Amino acid sequence: MFADLHLHTSFSDGTYTPEELVAHAQRHGLAALALTDHDTVEGCARMALACQRAGIEFIPGSELTAELGNVELHLIGYFIDTENPRLLMEMAKFQTVRQNRIREMVARLNKMNIPLEAEAVFALANCRSPGRPHVGRALVQGGFCATLDEAFERFLKKHRPAWVPKFKISAFDAIALIHEAGGAAVMAHPGLNRSDDVIPQLVDSGLDGLECYHTKHTPSTCEHYLAMAERHHLLVTGGSDCHGLNKGKPLIGTIKLPYEHVRDLKSRSNEIRQQRAQAQELATSVSDPDEQPSRD
Ligand code: AMP
Ligand code: ZN
Ligand code: FE
Ligand code: FE
Repeated sequence: MFADLHLHTSFSDGTYTPEELVAHAQRHGLAALALTDHDTVEGCARMALACQRAGIEFIPGSELTAELGNVELHLIGYFIDTENPRLLMEMAKFQTVRQNRIREMVARLNKMNIPLEAEAVFALANCRSPGRPHVGRALVQGGFCATLDEAFERFLKKHRPAWVPKFKISAFDAIALIHEAGGAAVMAHPGLNRSDDVIPQLVDSGLDGLECYHTKHTPSTCEHYLAMAERHHLLVTGGSDCHGLNKGKPLIGTIKLPYEHVRDLKSRSNEIRQQRAQAQELATSVSDPDEQPSRD
């Protein structure tokens, strides 16, 4: 039994709908899937249903855009409660910022006499967590660029005229938020962020795992993080980071994570939930005088 624990859909910057993604997973014989769209859980309900119909185990997740010092890193919450009020509040904030960022990018394009409308981008994105690929596709659709690549090269790439930096949550807050929602916090593709220096600090603030298996990790990078995971007693995860057809060919099927890692991740999430429940019980009994032992 194998899993892919890093997948994106059209609810962020992937091109497949949850149903399409699950159909591909089925063809690859995957037994468990996690949805890890950026800064959103909007696609989880549909993905859960599609997985249920396909007889595949579904793990709700989200990949949070975070930072520590000047290092950008992505933290994935697994087995999170997608109805958790704090999580939903933070996601709503993230999404407002993302939508304002689209307006800012469009304003910059307008200044360059490209009459793109923000509403056209939102209509095309059709999700709460829009990003640069949607602006790029809208530029192609409007006939302003011939291809998505051209849109990125001319306007959207870092330091190009329509590029606007993205909001990032503090990595410590991201871990706390994931735990509050009952999830396990895993650092995504550590090999892509040159972030080894920050890992000990993340471990101290409760990081649960490292994504050792990732499409862009070489075998030696993977070995490096497996050793690090062992050293810090961290869980090991892995996934393809498939974005559908957004970045060339679909990556689903390229990483097949042995199911035992899913089992460990689930146990960790259960421990986190138990700890939270106990802490909450303690807090209410302390604040409720009726629960105090009587002195007479
Ligand atoms: P954002 O999160 O809004 O900054 O957008 C980042 C996303 O843009 C990445 O996850 C990719 O899906 C996409 N992307 C980045 N560079 C390119 C590129 N050169 N061509 C196509 N898509 C890209
Ligand atoms: Zn992405
Ligand atoms: Fe990422
Ligand atoms: Fe990703």
